Amino acid sequence: MILDVSSKQFASTKKPIPPTLVGMNLGEIRALLAERGEPVYRANQIARWLYREGVSNANDMSDLPCSLRERLAQEIRISPYEVVVERTADNNLTRKALLRLADGSLVETVLMRYPANDRQRARNTVCVSSQVGCAVGCPFCATGFLGLKRHLTAGEIIGQVIYFNQRLRQLQANDARVTNVVFMGEGEPLANFQNVWSAIELLNAPECVGLGARRVTVSTSGLAPRIRELGTKSLEVGLAISLHAPTDDLRNRLVPVNRKYPIAELIDACREYVAQTNRRVSFEYALMRDVNDSIEQARTLARLLDGLLAHVNLIPLNRVEGSLFQPTPWSRMLAFQKTIQASGISCTVRSERGDAIDGACGQLRARLEQSPTANASSPARRELPDW
Ligand code: SAH
Ligand code: SF4
Repeated sequence: MILDVSSKQFASTKKPIPPTLVGMNLGEIRALLAERGEPVYRANQIARWLYREGVSNANDMSDLPCSLRERLAQEIRISPYEVVVERTADNNLTRKALLRLADGSLVETVLMRYPANDRQRARNTVCVSSQVGCAVGCPFCATGFLGLKRHLTAGEIIGQVIYFNQRLRQLQANDARVTNVVFMGEGEPLANFQNVWSAIELLNAPECVGLGARRVTVSTSGLAPRIRELGTKSLEVGLAISLHAPTDDLRNRLVPVNRKYPIAELIDACREYVAQTNRRVSFEYALMRDVNDSIEQARTLARLLDGLLAHVNLIPLNRVEGSLFQPTPWSRMLAFQKTIQASGISCTVRSERGDAIDGACGQLRARLEQSPTANASSPARRELPDW
């Protein structure tokens, strides 16, 4: 069933939005309490309720005095979103939620559960969005059709993780938690660097979510200067590059930011990232039939990554309404993988998740709001912004 989200129930609100607790670090919570003449030591308790317990109502913060709970309930918002719809797929292992933000914007977030097997422990990965829409305008991506609406705040980003931490607790009778976060939802995270970085700090801080930096991966279309900046940061997060093409000619069309930061510059920034962090870089490559899936292109890709600490992740293309790109047949995908592996580079095929719930980024929102093709200002036809 598809909900009707076109009604005025989802129209933008014009009322000023009160301060929102989720997204504040300990210092900011202390400042908020101090402004109100409340004892600042309560900040640690509040942070625990927000980030560990995931409460969405101040009245549930049971170790705070009643007067403070009432005050918080009246003057402050806890959570930056409401849930519009949640769908499941893959035998309940994949869940996609559509969230409505305070200004009426809609954004997607996905939980992928991977049960334990012989080789690894159970993982619960949340794929977070970092922007409403995206300015890069890749022509195979549902989010790209939308253009950029706005950046998400740190609270709107980390709120997605808190949401699924709560859901996991409801769904599984044990103390299941989110174990990994990937910035692979809607938006280009490095174009919203400051808020994304604040969200990563909150994810990592022991008094907040307490997730190790190595369990966080940022995926980017290739904003080379921002990759360099990321490499200088104190927390060494994983880096994934949405490459999708081994030559500038093709990449200029598939990932238009390549016109600004061509492949050579991108690979240079990746080399620097590896040198700075000692972490392997993942290259995402969505295989599109007769576009980027030939053996010759696999060889070119292998040459490009030669000598770099790299991994190639082949992605079966999700069909997007309004896009002409077709997925590559399975046999060709395996031949492509073999060619990469034969050159000594590790290469996996990503398992398809959530196809039945509009798996690829931006697809559920796009479907619920309107057909992406109805958007006349598709970013592919606009000038590139100045990143
Ligand atoms: N903007 C960032 C992160 C979000 S997109 C980036 O591009 O890296 C997350 C991943 O989904 C990217 O690798 C992107 O190329 C891929 N993707 C987008 N549309 C897709 C589709 N229709 N099928 C498969 N992968 C897709
Ligand atoms: Fe933006 Fe990533 Fe989609 Fe390209 S693939 S339009 S960069 S969200």
